[in-house]
Amino acid sequence: MSLAKLTDPTFHAVAVRGMFLFAALTACALTFLSAPYGRHARSGWGPTFDPRIGWLVMESPSVLLWGTLFLATMPSWSLTGLVLLSLWMFHYGYRAFVYPFRMRVKPGDRMPVVIAALAVGFNSLNAIVNAPMASGGVRPWTNAWMLDPRFLVGVAMFVAGTAINRWADAKLRALRKPGESGYRIPTGGLYEWITCPNYFGECLVWTGWAVATWSTAGVAFAVYTAANLVPRALQNHAWYRSQFPDYPIGRRAILPWIL
Ligand code: NDP
Repeated sequence: MSLAKLTDPTFHAVAVRGMFLFAALTACALTFLSAPYGRHARSGWGPTFDPRIGWLVMESPSVLLWGTLFLATMPSWSLTGLVLLSLWMFHYGYRAFVYPFRMRVKPGDRMPVVIAALAVGFNSLNAIVNAPMASGGVRPWTNAWMLDPRFLVGVAMFVAGTAINRWADAKLRALRKPGESGYRIPTGGLYEWITCPNYFGECLVWTGWAVATWSTAGVAFAVYTAANLVPRALQNHAWYRSQFPDYPIGRRAILPWIL
């Protein structure tokens, strides 16, 4: 594939449609089955490996391929593009290269290779869609965009979502001592309202990205994230209810009072 193709608006629009299709297929699949990793891990999904390697492998295209495509399609340096690059790398640099090494993995826990392979496929498509958009290759940025209310509100949502996501993941991490394998009921803060504040934060991050970039590429990723994480949140919520008879009755799955 040539670099010129990546910034061609017709090709880009087709790739964005591909992401919406990926989101629809993901939502349909996750309505009928849970992705077999973490608490929903089970046998019958082929070869497996250490989940830390899984997270490293599946998230690294979002840094390495994404960064390469950003630089390769960037028409010239712009402050707006630089801010978007920094936000993306702040999120994915952590997710790919820090998060896996902080996880409290259960002894003997495994992740199916097929899950990581699917994620690598999606993250590669996401790089093809979002990197040339963020670099200004598909539609050039002006520095004035940084003062537009959509950019400012979107960045604020991204930052707030990141803070919630990291806080919520840290809270879960603290529930399990190194070498332990059990689950406990998380409490405090947003956990009093919802089961999965980490997924809520993640959805807020990518909705903020869509608003800040005001792009179909951003919307496609925000829709995909919700298609992936809302069914997972409902499954996690049902799992807690089945495992803990004293699970707080008023807690919802991902949206306070609503869902
Ligand atoms: P989970 O909440 O299922 O698990 C996060 C970590 O906490 C795992 O190590 C898990 O262990 C542990 N954990 C969870 N609940 C408990 C508990 N009650 N007691 C003790 N330990 C617990 O999140 P995911 O693994 O699904 O996702 C991890 C991160 O990746 C999240 O921040 C999420 O937002 C993000 N993500 C983003 C996606 C996207 O589409 N953008 C897709 C998927 C994830 P164990 O693995 O043993 O269950």
